[in-house]
Amino acid sequence: MTTIICALCAGAPFSVLPSGLFECGSCRELLHTQDLVLDPGVVWCVNQHGQLGYVTDTAESLAGLRDALIDSAQAEAGTYDERDARYRFDSAVSDLRAALRAGLPFPAEAAA
Ligand SMILES: [Zn+2]
Repeated sequence: MTTIICALCAGAPFSVLPSGLFECGSCRELLHTQDLVLDPGVVWCVNQHGQLGYVTDTAESLAGLRDALIDSAQAEAGTYDERDARYRFDSAVSDLRAALRAGLPFPAEAAA
């Protein structure tokens, strides 16, 4: 999980409040998750310390993993394409593990 740091003071991450809002640990700026602007395929989450962050969605990571596997199988051994596919595979596995550690569910259609 990548922790979201307060853009106002750049001093601290946001921590969850009982109200469901998030508060900067330094300047006390309040943030609602509706105000977050995340890239497609990225979702917000909260770590075990109550800090707000984001991870790549599990479905996105799984799709990247599958694409990298196919590309790796089709690439000639020792080529740039093979190394690129392996790098993308490792990145997708890392993203998937981070999302699962953050508590996101494994994509339902993949488990069937
Ligand atoms: Zn702040």
